[in-house]
Amino acid sequence: MSSQISVVKCDSYKPSLVEVALRRSVDLLGGITSFIKPGSTVLVKPNLLMSTGPENGITTHPEVVRQVIRILKEINCKVIVGDGPSIWGRYIDNVDEVYEVTGIKKLCKDERAELVTFDKRRMRDKYPLTVWLDKCDHLINLPKFKTHELTLITGAIKNLFGLVSGTYKLELHKNNFAPPEFAKTLVDIYQDAKPDLTIIDGVLALEGDGPATSGKARSLGLLLAGSDCVALDTVMAKIMGIKSQEVLTTKEAARRGLGEGRLSEIKIQGEDIDKLKIKSFKLPTTSMSINNLAWPLKNIVKPLIRYYPYCLRVKCTACGHCVKVCPKKCITLESGGIYVDYKQCIACFCCQEACPAAAIGVRKSVLAKLIGL
Ligand code: SF4
Ligand code: SF4
Repeated sequence: MSSQISVVKCDSYKPSLVEVALRRSVDLLGGITSFIKPGSTVLVKPNLLMSTGPENGITTHPEVVRQVIRILKEINCKVIVGDGPSIWGRYIDNVDEVYEVTGIKKLCKDERAELVTFDKRRMRDKYPLTVWLDKCDHLINLPKFKTHELTLITGAIKNLFGLVSGTYKLELHKNNFAPPEFAKTLVDIYQDAKPDLTIIDGVLALEGDGPATSGKARSLGLLLAGSDCVALDTVMAKIMGIKSQEVLTTKEAARRGLGEGRLSEIKIQGEDIDKLKIKSFKLPTTSMSINNLAWPLKNIVKPLIRYYPYCLRVKCTACGHCVKVCPKKCITLESGGIYVDYKQCIACFCCQEACPAAAIGVRKSVLAKLIGL
């Protein structure tokens, strides 16, 4: 396990800038052949969460994917591109619309890469993952640098949740809704389908109530690359101003020995992250750090702190996406907005992730408000 990663500046998605920065990020780690065998078949998995343009900072930018495809073609690889979006287009089941609007469809046509869907699956260790993992020799993971209401960050490990095909993701949310359980599920997937190379698109990042329309795009100007997703998420958390132990996926993966979660043990090539001038990165509402409370107060109040979704009625278009994705089926459409049955709600925030109109906010329980979390 290499715990060497690279952090490289890239100020915009201007193709010439992305080309130089992306090649540098890989070259600093020994070049593409350190990760990928020439002439092999490679599955490239960007984050194509929903039907939205790359200017919103929610999906991996096509220019990043383009440069990866070109580097792979130079060593005669066959390139397959695909993702399993949580929200399949305007009508949930329309992944083609996601590919169109995110710019990936045109890009794959231009670059002559095969674009596939993850609808066919095979039961692997514990979960049904896309059969394309079996058909390819290597996996390249292209996450986005984002926050996440449930998992705190959407980085290298979390992006692999898209390998789970179709609506089975909702089953996993429903059956493993407590954050530590969900983190274990994500780490199981990482353990089963470890990427050979991960490049995090942090040129345009997403802060606040990510990972979708309730977050805010923010220029960050960075690419992070490496093969150790635990190390990558550790460094990403550090840049966001979070201790890696607060990210449950990182903590669990490091505990299992799947990568390096200690910042001091990670060799960072390229930028000195201590010298990067990044002003405070806005974290999700649900992250209000309980860890800042003194022990034993932390352990007493932790089970009593709750966060709930609520409808911002002025923004709601009554599209019904949230109703379709809610794993507990506890949302109903009513005139002027949605109604949530809080007795059923498991606070998974799939509804907020699915909402195309940023119409779902986060409400804190009374105790959380009282103690200022
Ligand atoms: S209402 Fe939202 S947060 Fe609650 S269970 Fe449904 S999708 Fe999850
Ligand atoms: S809250 Fe969002 S997803 Fe739900 S119906 Fe309204 S606009 Fe659609």
